[in-house]
Parts: sequence; structure tokens; C-alpha cells
Amino acid sequence: MGEVWTLAEFRHGKLNPISFELLNRGKSLAQKLDTSLASIIIGYDIKKEDIDELIERGADKVYVVDDKRLENFIVETYAKVILKLLDEYNPDIFIAAATTTGRTLMPYIAVKKQTGLTADCTVLDIEEETGNLLQTRPAIGGNILATIKTLNTRPQMATVRPHSTKPALPDRNRVGEVIYKQFSDDVFSSKTKYIRFIKNESQQVNIQDAKIIVAGGRGLGKAENFKLIDELAELLGGAVGVSRDVVDRGWKTYPHQIGLSGKTVSPALYIAVGISGAIQHIAGMQTSENIIAINKDPDAQIFKIANLGIVGDLNEILPLLIERIKDY
Ligand code: FAD
Repeated sequence: MGEVWTLAEFRHGKLNPISFELLNRGKSLAQKLDTSLASIIIGYDIKKEDIDELIERGADKVYVVDDKRLENFIVETYAKVILKLLDEYNPDIFIAAATTTGRTLMPYIAVKKQTGLTADCTVLDIEEETGNLLQTRPAIGGNILATIKTLNTRPQMATVRPHSTKPALPDRNRVGEVIYKQFSDDVFSSKTKYIRFIKNESQQVNIQDAKIIVAGGRGLGKAENFKLIDELAELLGGAVGVSRDVVDRGWKTYPHQIGLSGKTVSPALYIAVGISGAIQHIAGMQTSENIIAINKDPDAQIFKIANLGIVGDLNEILPLLIERIKDY
């Protein structure tokens, strides 16, 4: 049985914490297959602390390719390096986050390896009888959950939706193996030339990166009432999320939607206002660290996963809450 591999994302001198979510996924797959979990990290000037952190958070091995020519992300070069590693070590499973990096790299690699790739998975599991990777993702506009298998080719490849699981926790006593690799010049050659990096300075809050999300549901009653949600989110320095019902009614736009057919989020604080807690909504926010729910129905499903529940009319509670926060 080959290893389970995760891609540790390293860009602009920093390890993306999304890498720890992948380790959490990879750990349970490797345990079920009774094999080792390895991370690959490629880039330039990779710090020892970052490699150690991967081990502390679950990697048994880390394959490192550190080269000045990997300073900037060029898909062709990165893919060639990864293909070299895959050819040498033949892992059974290779997963990456469904970030811009993962979404760009993984299809390129899958085509070159002539293997399957399931994009944007929300669940990964192992089929007991065969040991195959079960790759589950929303399909047909989020109306069904499709489980996909890669039958005859290897590695089995998938990208995983960011924030659909918690990051693996560190164990500072864990030890692992670090394997440094070097490749010949031809591996780094590319038809693409790097010119410069332009940072997206958009002021719009990215809901998936927000530490605080104030989310409103159908209980708000009408679009105008969302000014309460907008105000509370602004006061707390957070982003505005909504249920699908709100998007369907045209009260807010789709980029705000959280859930199975929307975004998956995992903020430090999620405030759900007038949201019942349908399973499709919960699928997109259940890994939030703290959940506060405001709902007039004491039996609303959302209270089952809330750390703090407030039963009452949002039209009374929200203005009071906003007032108190302003005074604070
Ligand atoms: P409701 O379920 O109608 O809940 C409104 C809540 O507001 C109620 O609990 C009510 O008690 C409360 N309320 C009403 N008035 C007040 C008041 N004055 N004060 C306080 N509380 C009040 N849903 C998503 O959210 N995201 C998805 O991505 C998503 N994907 C889906 C995919 C599929 C394939 C399907 C079939 C459904 C999907 N849904 C999704 C829809 C989901 O099933 C629910 O219909 C939706 O989440 C309900 O939204 P809601 O909680 O805003 O509305």
C-alpha cells in the first residue's frame, strides 16, 4: 500500500494554514489504510519551523524541494517537480486544498499522470472492502452529493474544500522523517515567464477568511432588515453570511451563501440570526469555533450545535445587541 500524500501550500515565504486541514483529512485516511502520511512542500527558503509544524500536526514524512527557481508559483514548474516526486514514490492517494493553487496544480498533474481527480470534495473516506478512496462532493448545482472512486489508476487525487474540516492539532513531541530532494535543471525549465506579482487589494471581506461571520436567514423577513445584520457585522469587523433561502429571495447575493451549495466557513465566531439550521446550512458552518444562535423558535435545529442560544425576536434582540456593542 502506497502512502497518503498531502500538498503543503508554501507561497511568498509562508506556509498556508490550510495545509493543517489537509493533514487532518490525510491522517484519518492513512490510519484506515494502515500506511504513512506524508506532506510535500515545495518552494524557496522553506523554514525548518514550517517543516516541523507539518510533522507535529500529523505528517510521518515530509518531502521538501527548496529551490530559488520555485520562488514564484509557475504551474508548469511546480507540476514537473511534483510529477518527479510522484513517479519516484508512487503514493496511493494525493490530496490538496481546493484553493487557487490546488485548483490550478492538481488538474495539470492528473492529466499528466492520466489518473482521476475529484475537485472540491467535502467528505473523504476509505471503502472498507477495496481500500479505495471515496471522494464525495456536491454535484448538479449542490442538489446531490456524488461519491466518486478512482478505480484503476493511481494516485487517487482529490482537492478538498477549504474549511470543510478543522486543522489537525499539533503534538510538539511528534517526530518524523524529512527527505530533501533536488532535481536537474530540465525539471525547472518552463515556457512561462514570471513577470511580477500583483496583490488583490479588493476591500471586500472574503467570507472564507473572516474570523467573525454574522449570518442572516429567512427570519429577517425582508431585504431591508438586513441592515441590522450588516451593521452588527461591521461593528464586529466581520463578514455577512446568509442561508440559501435569502439568496433565492434576492435579499443578498450568492457569494454570501453558506452551506452545501454555498461556501464552507470555519470562523472563530458564527452568529446565526433567524436561521433554522437545516442540514444543508449546517454542512457549511459546523466547524466554526463558537456558534451563537438567535431564533424565536426554541426547537430550532440550530440550537443543537450552538454554544450559546438566544430564544427571542431578532427585531428586538439585534438593536439591543448593536446598542450595547456601540457603548462598549
Ligand atoms: P427557514 O428554515 O425558513 O428558517 C427561518 C428561521 O427564522 C426559523 O427557524 C424561524 O423560527 C426563525 N425566525 C423567524 N422569524 C424570526 C424572528 N422574528 N426572530 C428570530 N427568529 C425568527 N441552505 C443553506 O442555507 N445553504 C445551502 O448551501 C443550501 N444548499 C441546499 C442544497 C440542497 C440540495 C437543498 C435541497 C437545500 C439547500 N439549502 C441550503 C436549503 C435548506 O434546506 C433550507 O431550506 C435553508 O437553509 C433554510 O434557510 P433559513 O434557515 O434561512 O430559513
